[in-house]
Amino acid sequence: MKKAIYKNGERFPYLGRDYTLEIRQYPSYKKPGVTVEGDKLTVLTARTDDGVVEKAVKEWYLSRAAAVIPERVRFYRDLMQEHIGRICIKDVKSRWGSCSSKRNLNFNWRLIMAPMEVLDYVVVHELCHLKEMNHSKDFWALVEGILPDYKERRKWLRDCRLIERF
Ligand SMILES: [Zn+2]
Repeated sequence: MKKAIYKNGERFPYLGRDYTLEIRQYPSYKKPGVTVEGDKLTVLTARTDDGVVEKAVKEWYLSRAAAVIPERVRFYRDLMQEHIGRICIKDVKSRWGSCSSKRNLNFNWRLIMAPMEVLDYVVVHELCHLKEMNHSKDFWALVEGILPDYKERRKWLRDCRLIERF
């Protein structure tokens, strides 16, 4: 799977939809800005060298992940009546989410690229680990009780190659 290229016209996913990258150079921009409008992901920047565009896009994804994921965690936490510790958004290459014995929840920022249903699946998966710290039958029954179609969502995640691409 080839790595994403941060050039005009390249496609970047956000919440399950593809957006076309548009780089607009403005000498006056001290710090790059990123906006989403229509089907465009626009980076406004003075410089385009040295991975400036890639850094700006990744920072934008991280900030969106930090806004959206905790909101979904709180929604399902309340639904499942769980107590949780801290929520962290991490840059990891190996996993989508994890949870600790201190009830802290960690999520891969790349989840913000996936459809909301898929993001929700990872949230529910980690919250279910607060009750069942394994992948036993009981664990999957818990997940299924909240998301009856979790298998489709899990399959999407397995097939997406987002971690390899970004
Ligand atoms: Zn698990």
